[in-house]
Amino acid sequence: MTVPWVVLKYGGTSVATPERWAAIADRVAACATTHRVWLVVSAVSQVSNRLERALDEAVAGDASTSVAWLTERHEALADGLGLDAADRAPVRALLDELATLLRGVALTAEASPRLRARVLSFGELASTWLGLGALRRAGLDVTRVDARRLLRAEAGPATPDATRYLEARVPTRTAPDGPAAAAGAARVVITQGFIASTADGHTALLGRGGSDTSAALFAALLGADRCEIWTDVHGLFTTDPRLLPSARLLTRLRYREAEELAALGAKVLHPRCLGPVAQARVPLEVRNTADPQGPSTRIEADGDDEPAVLAVVHRQGVPLVSLHTLSMWGQPGYLSRLFGVFATHGISVDLVATSQAALTVTLDHVPGGLGGPAFQAALADLEALGTVTVRPACAVVSMVGRHIRTVLPRLGGSFAAFEERGVHLVSASSEDLNLSFVVDADDAPRLVRDLHAHLLGGGVQAPWLGPSWSELTTPTEAVPARPSPWWVARRDALLSLAADGPVWVQDLAVVRERARALVTALPQIGARFYAMKANDHPDVLRAVVDLGFGLECVSAAEVAHARATCGDAVPLLFTPNFCPVEEYAAAFAAGAEVVLDGPDVLHQAPATFRGRAVGLRLDPGGGQGHHAKVTTAGARTKFGHPIDDVDRVLDAARALDVRIVGLHAHVGSGILEPTAWSRTARTLAGLRARFPDLRWVDLGGGLGVVERPGQVALDLDAVAVALRGVEGLDGLELRIEPGRYLVSEGGVLLLPVTQVRDKGGVTFVGAAAGMDALLRPALYGAWHGIHNLSRWGEPPTIVAEVVGPICETGDVLGHDRVLPITAPGDVLLVENTGAYGHVMGSHYNRRGVVRQVTLG
Ligand code: ADP
Ligand code: ASP
Ligand code: MG
Repeated sequence: MTVPWVVLKYGGTSVATPERWAAIADRVAACATTHRVWLVVSAVSQVSNRLERALDEAVAGDASTSVAWLTERHEALADGLGLDAADRAPVRALLDELATLLRGVALTAEASPRLRARVLSFGELASTWLGLGALRRAGLDVTRVDARRLLRAEAGPATPDATRYLEARVPTRTAPDGPAAAAGAARVVITQGFIASTADGHTALLGRGGSDTSAALFAALLGADRCEIWTDVHGLFTTDPRLLPSARLLTRLRYREAEELAALGAKVLHPRCLGPVAQARVPLEVRNTADPQGPSTRIEADGDDEPAVLAVVHRQGVPLVSLHTLSMWGQPGYLSRLFGVFATHGISVDLVATSQAALTVTLDHVPGGLGGPAFQAALADLEALGTVTVRPACAVVSMVGRHIRTVLPRLGGSFAAFEERGVHLVSASSEDLNLSFVVDADDAPRLVRDLHAHLLGGGVQAPWLGPSWSELTTPTEAVPARPSPWWVARRDALLSLAADGPVWVQDLAVVRERARALVTALPQIGARFYAMKANDHPDVLRAVVDLGFGLECVSAAEVAHARATCGDAVPLLFTPNFCPVEEYAAAFAAGAEVVLDGPDVLHQAPATFRGRAVGLRLDPGGGQGHHAKVTTAGARTKFGHPIDDVDRVLDAARALDVRIVGLHAHVGSGILEPTAWSRTARTLAGLRARFPDLRWVDLGGGLGVVERPGQVALDLDAVAVALRGVEGLDGLELRIEPGRYLVSEGGVLLLPVTQVRDKGGVTFVGAAAGMDALLRPALYGAWHGIHNLSRWGEPPTIVAEVVGPICETGDVLGHDRVLPITAPGDVLLVENTGAYGHVMGSHYNRRGVVRQVTLG
């Protein structure tokens, strides 16, 4: 009798550590007792992203930092797995080949889709080599097969290259060299997800996240008993569990329902993976590698059919195109002409709404992106037909379920907030499986939360609804994964401080530690100015000044405060924006160095500037940051002078005998990406020849800190490495202006609990201060960890909205937070609030400004 197959697929996080590989070996061994095992693996987590970034960096000139990162990532895993030189040799060969390819890209400054596919394939090629070594070491008899031999993509002559190589489709037909044949007699096969080949033998990719589809294709081709997708969550949830911990596990679904969920934003499955398994009737299970015995989602043909909301999901970055034309009215065949335009250029349309004079669509797949030739050509054709508006990155929020239109009467007030902001498009799927709403990107998370609370919150019961993510992860998530934060050891002192009401506490020891780390890690930085707007407590200013920092000020009042607190010797940098022109005179008088951000003030107050040396803040275009409101460069931001217009400033300066001795750029806040500053440095270095008096270059601040679980801390060493690669800075002093980086983690906000109340199935925990103290959540949607300090260590059991006492709906410090049982009088601790916390406080509602104290 032939032994049946089972297909196991492990995603990026599931192959990232030796412990995960041990779990894989256990599962493979268990399955191998009854089945033959076809193992499909992804690239190690973050590797595919890094390869994409390396390509972009190579096009821009140099990808060596990323190549070093990729080498280190694979070597570290090989070390952890105890692999020897022979096991590693193929991975090293791949990395050498990668480095060569990327150097080629750097020389030509371009990367075709075909080359991109080749570069991206390195992740899976490497992880399967490491996996082969790991499984053999675990005593398993494993054969490695190259998936490109077996999965042959189909494309027509008109298929654009971006689709052909990067979003390829593989039909479920047995390839000439079928997988069963390729396996030979092996009991266990390991192969790559994500990669296939074109008819002429080039590497093609199945689209980002496409390893699930590889697994499903193999399961269908092998007629497997089942396909198991192992990932970092237990299955498909009623919404992204990382967004809402109250999301419930969907324990069973039908193929079409799962496909709809995946297509509309449940990223845990690649949408195209459901087709092959549905066709071959192979059941598909989604399971958590970190909790192999835990519950899961099982997807198969049969299932429940009563009307139900299954999930509220969302997708970001969806382009919306509207065409307005009066001539459309009554014209037969007009719509087909419009859709013909998209079809001609290979662009697929997703949601559609029409009226007598307008057509609005969202785009599903644009080969080459909105900047690419296909979209630009389509745009030109559409413009010939009417007035076109493009919103490049909207969000689509979808309610997915069976007979979903039955929920319409229950939507109640969920859309009240959209009265002013607008829903751009509403669509109901013809199969009655989803209702979708296109909204602005920023509005989506809140809409998801509201709809989810409304339709799936408050203990809804149904046979397919399993435990919530918070229930499933409580024991391990209760204590933050990172090293115990400073405030745990000082809990008693903090609780007694909070006995007198809300209070900000800043631990100066943490501030000093961050300041020292920065000095040590970035030796090439010649001068550091603390951006005192982040936290201007006198003790904080003195602590950083004692460590050799200067102060960066953005108002005359800050300059005065800096001088009064730290004396005349401390270097000050004055970098205001649209400030009254008299403040410049005050700053000069106080001995600060002054940075202009345009020529206007020179015309306005020539006497203030004549004969002076100043810096110039430039806008390098294309800013970064954790939120649009803290992105400080690029079109439509108010900061800096456009980089391609320096002549106007140079002319104005020359007329007043003003010397521009420094160039400054600051692209945003909360940046965790280590090459941000080297990019700025490269841009500014490129302008050096225009500024003969140049003495310094200031790369701004923006150094981010980890705010949410799952974020990867800024790697200061990588910042240093990237800076070392920048040419043209010799003889110039390099400067930075950290704010948040120095003070955020050292600060907490302590808030006594006022009331705890259930309303409409939602638990609200009230705090004695809210947006009046900490504005960031309301202003930026910033996320701060919130803990019950009084009950630290108790098991988290409730999911709550943490709100303040201010008369504003937006007075919410944290949505959907997991806390232990909480009662009035308990003290909540809001983490990471040392930066832009106390300084942004207000007396709104005539509540006093919350006091700030320092420790150590
Ligand atoms: P892998 O690397 O294992 O393929 P992915 O990152 O592609 O994993 O998918 C898993 C992630 O999908 C989860 O960590 C989760 O945050 C996200 N996700 C988004 N929506 C959902 C949902 N509705 N149910 C489950 N997970 C979801
Ligand atoms: N490694 C690929 C990606 O990150 C494919 C996958 O993991 O599914 O997109
Ligand atoms: Mg995935």
